[in-house]
Amino acid sequence: MARNEFSLVFQPQVEIASGLPRGVEALLRWNHPQRGLISPLEFIPLAEETGLIVPVGAWVMRQAFAQMAAWKTAGLPTLRMAINISAVQFHHGDFADLLARALADFDIDPTLVELELTESVLMHNVEEVLDNLRRIKSHGVMLAIDDFGTGFSSLNYLRRFPIDRLKIDQSFIRGITQTPANASITKAIIALADSLSLEVVAEGIEESVENDFLNSLGCKEGQGYFFARPLNTLQVEQWLAGARAA
Ligand code: C2E
Ligand code: CA
Ligand code: CA
Repeated sequence: MARNEFSLVFQPQVEIASGLPRGVEALLRWNHPQRGLISPLEFIPLAEETGLIVPVGAWVMRQAFAQMAAWKTAGLPTLRMAINISAVQFHHGDFADLLARALADFDIDPTLVELELTESVLMHNVEEVLDNLRRIKSHGVMLAIDDFGTGFSSLNYLRRFPIDRLKIDQSFIRGITQTPANASITKAIIALADSLSLEVVAEGIEESVENDFLNSLGCKEGQGYFFARPLNTLQVEQWLAGARAA
């Protein structure tokens, strides 16, 4: 893996009721010289095993911030930027310090940055994780739990950790109108989030019926192929221009 073979794409996050832009999630792509575009599902586990995720993850963060700065300079509407953080990256060295330096280098408004952590990140030594999360939060960024509902089932950490948002996993959203169990789980997650004053984002919305159903449940934000596939920089700019014109 040569680092110059990596790039980012951006998946829109929208307000469900209106379809208006709220943010984007940065997603990593590996353009292999022989094999073409390789899915992160294939190479992230390998990068985690070899430790390469540490420099690559740092590159993702800086690249995402560079893009935010470029959009700001170009006068585009402000978007929140969600960035996936691997457990290996989170537990390696001084992550909070790396974040602080990157925020400063690109002069980023931290309230527009959301770090996506999986439940597995949080299941290490609780005191150590809590300390790390507090230091990260002290820089003003938002924290989200990715793939919520698929990981460790202890809900205790939602109370203890400074989390802002839950991202409801795609597996509960897919076919939500046909699978009562998925609808029940999604309703329960939304109710839980409401009672703990957390925001929710539904992932993997592919159909308009899924979107309408989530709207009726009071889910405010979503992402998925129904709105847009992951976009390159130019496509994001076109998406924003289209939303402004609408
Ligand atoms: P994730 O964080 O859950 O990201 C969402 C994945 O679901 C993305 O796949 C996205 O393209 C896909 N997706 C979004 N909406 C839909 C939909 O409506 N239907 C379907 N079928 N799929 C949808 P992608 O880009 O292949 O990423 C896969 C996973 O790789 C991500 O899952 C994340 O865990 C990991 N990943 C991606 N970029 C990074 C990164 O920069 N750092 C780290 N540590 N992990 C990353
Ligand atoms: Ca994610
Ligand atoms: Ca996810």
